[in-house]
Amino acid sequence: MTDVIRTVAELRTLVRAWRAAGEIVGVVPTMGALHDGHLSLARRGKVECHRVITTIFVNPKQFTNPEDLKKYPRTEEADVALLNSVGVDAVFIPSPEEVYPDGYMTTVSVGGVSEPLEGRMRPGHFDGVATVVTKLFGMTEAHRGYFGQKDWQQLQVVLRLVRDLNLPVTVVGCETIRETDGLAMSSRNVRLTDQGRAVAHVLYTAITAAADDIRAGQSDRMAIREAAEKVRAAGFERVEYIELRDAETLMPSDDVRRPRRMLAAAWLDGVRLIDNIPV
Ligand code: AMP
Repeated sequence: MTDVIRTVAELRTLVRAWRAAGEIVGVVPTMGALHDGHLSLARRGKVECHRVITTIFVNPKQFTNPEDLKKYPRTEEADVALLNSVGVDAVFIPSPEEVYPDGYMTTVSVGGVSEPLEGRMRPGHFDGVATVVTKLFGMTEAHRGYFGQKDWQQLQVVLRLVRDLNLPVTVVGCETIRETDGLAMSSRNVRLTDQGRAVAHVLYTAITAAADDIRAGQSDRMAIREAAEKVRAAGFERVEYIELRDAETLMPSDDVRRPRRMLAAAWLDGVRLIDNIPV
């Protein structure tokens, strides 16, 4: 049975016992409302570690829009049942006060890679992410941390953070899990209307076509413009960005010898969807 833990003290006792027995511990940080994307990280953790902890914490510090925080789906009971079904050893579900007690004063801020794209559209978001991820690594004392490529820029921020602060954890980036039509699984997808859900996959299919066109020799700019037009024509209210970037630094890149990534964010039904693919 998956152990449900709510305090750092209980978590420490559990993890210290595992570590004392020589066991490798993996952590999968999430905000809950779990779907198969999250579970794929937990399954990977189970393959590579003796013990896996999933954390569920809707981190107020990484929300730049109070409405989004309020509307964020919370499905704790179902989440615990799903984690149990994939053999997760413990789920850590702290309260906001447990994570940020009275007098809390520290922010972890990663430069460079957290500035463009999501960082520009959601100022402060990656400070919230970097701070809570640093804390979760400290709280869980995990050897390995599992993150999805779905949030590509976040993954790069966490990799940079771990390198820069010499954190004793190995970060593992896992493939994006998609619905059968190509839509990246996301906790926010449940907020789409039926009509929205029917066209949401266009964000993925449009950037996939653009990446194919670029590989076939079309100009980056032209391929991206066509992708944005397709997304708008499908009924998305707004395309925030579709950009081709260096996969690691997230800076603009036309250097085809380095790995590049196409990243997109767009609004549909008042829901902000993001996706990304290798180019
Ligand atoms: P979240 O609960 O949205 O903060 O996501 C928790 C973790 O799950 C992050 O590392 C995400 O990148 C990852 N994740 C979310 N959706 C997917 C997906 N569709 N495929 C793979 N990983 C995902």
